Amino acid sequence: VVTAAAASVSLAACGSTEGAGAGGSAKSEAIKVGLLLPEDQTARYEKFDKPLIEKEIAKFTRNKGEVVYANAKQDAAAQNAQVDAMIARKVNVLIIDAVDAKAIAGAVKKAKDARIPVIAYDRLAEGPIDAYTSFDNEDVGKVQAKALLEALGDKAGSGQIVMMNGSLTDPNAKGFKSGAHFVLDGKVTIGKEYDTKEWKPENANANMAGAISALGKGKIVGVYSANDGMAGGIISALKAAGVTPLPPVTGQDAELAGVQRIVAGEQYMTVYKSYAPEAAAAAEMAVALAQGEKIDGLINQIVDSPTTKGVPSVLVPGIALTKNNIRATVVDDGIYTISEICTDR
Ligand code: BGC
Repeated sequence: VVTAAAASVSLAACGSTEGAGAGGSAKSEAIKVGLLLPEDQTARYEKFDKPLIEKEIAKFTRNKGEVVYANAKQDAAAQNAQVDAMIARKVNVLIIDAVDAKAIAGAVKKAKDARIPVIAYDRLAEGPIDAYTSFDNEDVGKVQAKALLEALGDKAGSGQIVMMNGSLTDPNAKGFKSGAHFVLDGKVTIGKEYDTKEWKPENANANMAGAISALGKGKIVGVYSANDGMAGGIISALKAAGVTPLPPVTGQDAELAGVQRIVAGEQYMTVYKSYAPEAAAAAEMAVALAQGEKIDGLINQIVDSPTTKGVPSVLVPGIALTKNNIRATVVDDGIYTISEICTDR
C-alpha cells in the first residue's frame, strides 16, 4: 500500500513538473516579489538591475509574478518603512539591496517573522537573510588596484595615490577597499584615504578638492576611486584644480558616462560587472523561496555575514574594462551601442 501510494504521488508530481517547463514549478507562480533598491544616483539600479530583475521574475513565473518596487534614495529609515509597507502588502518574498547593511537588520527580522523569505541583493544585509547574490567584492577591489598599478608603471614609486572609498554603511565598500589594499600596499604610497558619504559624486568631488590642497597637485600620481559616479566627481575636481595631465583614475559599474570618460582618456578603467547573471540569480532564488522550494542547486558559495552564518549565495565575477576591451565587453554584450558611447559630450 505504502509503495503504491508513493508511486502515484511521484507520478503526479512528474506530470505537473513537465507541464511547468524549464525553470517552472509545480506550484502557483502568481507570486508578489518586493524589490527594494538603495539609491538612484548610480545609474545601474534603475537602468539595469530593476528591469533585469523584472524580466527574470516574469521568466521564472511564466508571466504570473508581480514585482512591487521601491527605491530608498539613500535613506535607511525610508527603506525600513518600505519593508513594512511590503509586509503589509503581503509580498511573498523580498529582494533587498540595503542602504545601510546594519540598519536594515530589524526590518529583515520582521519580514522573517511574517514568513517572508529575504534575499540580500548585491549588499550583504544583516539580519536573518535566506540567500545572497553579489559580485566577489574583494576581487572587484583587486581588479581596480591591479589596473591602477598597470597604469602607473614606473611612476608607482614616485608620488602618492589618493584612495577614495565608498560609503561606510555598505559592506561592499569595505570589500572593495580591502581587495585594493591587498594589491596596493607596499607598492605605492597611499597619501590620503577617504570614505565617501552615501557614495555621492559631490562628496567625492569635495574630498578630492581637499586632497589636492593637502598634498599639492604635482604629487598625486593616481586615484583609486571605488565607482564611476565618484570618478566623475574626482575628475571634475582634478580638472578644476588644473591638474595636467590627469592621473589615472579607477572606477566601477561601467556606467555610460564612465565608459565615455575612458574613451576620452580622462578615466583609466572601470569594472564591468555583468548585472544579468546577478539579477537572474536573485529572481530564480526568489521564485524558489517564495514557493518553499530548496535553492541548494542554484548557489555557488556559502557566505557568513556579521549576524548570520552560512548564507547560501551566488557570487558573480567582475572584469576590468579599459580602452582596449570596450567592444569585447559592453558593446558585444549589448549594454551600449558604439554610437551611444561615441556621442560628443
Ligand atoms: C555596488 C556598486 C555601486 C555602489 C554605489 C555598491 O554596493 O556594488 O556597484 O557603485 O554600491 O551604489
